[in-house]
Amino acid sequence: MGFDMSWFKRENGDLTTPAVETENGTDAGRTVRTEGLWIKCVGCRATIWKADLEQNLNVCTRCQHHFKLGARERIEMLLDPGYELVDTGLRSTDPLNFSDVKPYKQRLSKAQEQTGLGDAILNAQGQLGPHAVILSAMEYSFIGGSMGAVVGETIARAVDRAREQRKPLIVVAASGGARMMEGVASLMQMAKISTALAQLDDAGVPYICVLTDPTTGGVTASFAMLGDLNIAEPGALIGFAGPRVIEQTIRQKLPEGFQRAEFLLEKGFLDAVVPRKDLKNYLVRALDFMKAQ
Ligand SMILES: [Zn+2]
Repeated sequence: MGFDMSWFKRENGDLTTPAVETENGTDAGRTVRTEGLWIKCVGCRATIWKADLEQNLNVCTRCQHHFKLGARERIEMLLDPGYELVDTGLRSTDPLNFSDVKPYKQRLSKAQEQTGLGDAILNAQGQLGPHAVILSAMEYSFIGGSMGAVVGETIARAVDRAREQRKPLIVVAASGGARMMEGVASLMQMAKISTALAQLDDAGVPYICVLTDPTTGGVTASFAMLGDLNIAEPGALIGFAGPRVIEQTIRQKLPEGFQRAEFLLEKGFLDAVVPRKDLKNYLVRALDFMKAQ
């Protein structure tokens, strides 16, 4: 039958591997995300038209599974037209001259080429409805949204900008954690951003973090959980270490839905779980409320 499997893009499968995994691939031809018209939903397994998905902010129209959203699309979705991208000039210096299966420099230039971004982050300033805000959005498809010196410095600049201009700060997290290829320089970002956020808090400027799928490792362990309000998208994986590591360490079976946004909300680690379509309105209302105080 004339059934062409290349129409489909599977999130976890061998038809097309996600950008992060293909970093290690040798077959350059397979590294592109297919421009197929259809996509299989990882939530309900339904085959959905890609255009429908994009129309619906990358949320499955049947089961409401929230697909990942890039930094640019995120800014586009949250800010009113006329926003400005800022702090875009930073590039990693590869401080350790690091190489694993391939040189880190090579990974960087490939990720830059694929995403059109300098690193896994994009800062913007503009209007979120009636509020002038500073927005920092992470890009998961750039080396798993990992936080190296550039991500850390860019977020720290967003924090400083928010403090100096007395505008609320919103950070949209999407990250596999600290960037291993920058070793301790990555870990230092946690302290740097946390210090900047403490100053923001002293200045009485609000900070809201939006945790999206996935937010893990050193990002969860620093700025992603330090908001005046920490909210997440439905179904987002949020944690420090992965479930397998935890299970092996504590030698216990983990409960159902462990490390998902809804579970964390129930346990009091989050303030709200907000569907993507409601996110902008939710943020506007939250800032209305904070301003009134
Ligand atoms: Zn679905």
